[in-house]
Amino acid sequence: MLLQNLPDFRWDKTSLMTYKEEPGTHYKGTTRQVLFDGAFPDLPVQLRYFEIQADGYSTLEKHQHAHLVVIMQGKGQVLDGDQIHSVETNDVITFGPDTFHQLRATEGEPLGFLCLVNVDRDRPVLPSEEEWNKLCENPQVAEFIRR
Ligand code: MN
Repeated sequence: MLLQNLPDFRWDKTSLMTYKEEPGTHYKGTTRQVLFDGAFPDLPVQLRYFEIQADGYSTLEKHQHAHLVVIMQGKGQVLDGDQIHSVETNDVITFGPDTFHQLRATEGEPLGFLCLVNVDRDRPVLPSEEEWNKLCENPQVAEFIRR
C-alpha cells in the first residue's frame, strides 16, 4: 500500500480534515490527515499528519496514552508537562502518559508534524480550572498555554 506524496504535505487517498475555528473549541487552524489506521493486527497504531497554521495551536490536553511526534515542517514551541521547548523540522518529541501538552506555531509559519498513537487509547482530557491554575503557577507556562 502506497500513499503517494502530493504537493504541500498532502497524500493521495487521504482526506484532509479541518477543525472548526470557533472560540471554545480548544484548537486553532489545524488540519489532520490519517496516513495509517491500524490496518495490521501486529501494528496497532494510527499515524496522523497534523498541520497547525501560523499562530495556531493544538488542544491543551492530557491522557493516559503516549504520543510520538516528528516535526515535518516549520518551527514552533511545545509544552511537555512543565517544560517548554522550541522545536523545528526533524525534531522528535515524546509526550508521556498523564502529561499536559500543547504545540504552537509561534514562528509565523505553519507547524507540520507526524503523530503516532495507539489505536486503542483513552480520550483526551482538558485541564480543569484547578489544573489550569496549577499550570499557571509557572510563569513561563502561564504565558505559553492557550485554550
Ligand atoms: Mn494529545
